[in-house]
Amino acid sequence: MKNLIVAEAGLIAHGRGECFDYILGEKTNKAAKAAIKAAIAMLLLAHSPIISVNGNVAVLVPNQIVQLSYLLNAPLEINLFYRKEGRIDAIRKVLEKAGARQILGIDESKMVEIKELSSNRRKVDPEGIKNADVVLVPLEDGDRTEALKRIGKKIIAIDLNPISRTSLWADITIIDNIVRAIPEMIRATKELKQLEKKDLIKLIEKYNNTKNIKRTLDLITKYIKNQKRKPFKKIYS
Ligand code: ATP
Repeated sequence: MKNLIVAEAGLIAHGRGECFDYILGEKTNKAAKAAIKAAIAMLLLAHSPIISVNGNVAVLVPNQIVQLSYLLNAPLEINLFYRKEGRIDAIRKVLEKAGARQILGIDESKMVEIKELSSNRRKVDPEGIKNADVVLVPLEDGDRTEALKRIGKKIIAIDLNPISRTSLWADITIIDNIVRAIPEMIRATKELKQLEKKDLIKLIEKYNNTKNIKRTLDLITKYIKNQKRKPFKKIYS
């Protein structure tokens, strides 16, 4: 935060994430793995996939997000809610240090606006999010997810909160901590790259996001019920 990479509000958002991670048992569950497979299939089939990056993403998984971008041939675009002076540059440096060569969302003079959105995040790169058919939005706010859906984008979200507006609006919601989800996505990309197009389509067709979110909510209940500590048993059994 002191180096401007993460905004003050980013720390609070991180805390919300940690809270959900705790009640999810701090591991990648089956529902998250199913969402990851469908997400990678969608990204591999996309014409112009893009990965949106904010400060929290840059701090938590710099090397992994760059690796995933190369593997999927999906550029990285910096897109921020809090556009304090120096933040874009600070995030760009982190990504470049991690090996990113082409980063979108940097040149203010080139940016265009998504009129459906009022926050700073309406400014997008014409060669990136504006032109993309599939957008991976890790740690996103609901307003932008909704706006991106309204302009016809397919949205893949990574969000530990299964009932955030982002989670509910996305086409595919990966309910997992980004620090575990991105390495799992890298593994899945290497595996699914071997498949034919028709098999990737099948993976997407058999995936149902609403059911998957419900499955996660059930897993949370089950996890809490299985806690061995007595006070939990008294309350929930
Ligand atoms: P919404 O606007 O979508 O209803 P929100 O207001 O909480 O939700 P943000 O303020 O952008 O949206 O919060 C970002 C989201 O990222 C939160 O839902 C939080 O649970 C999630 N999150 C925070 N840290 C992580 C992490 N490490 N991995 C995955 N998700 C995270």
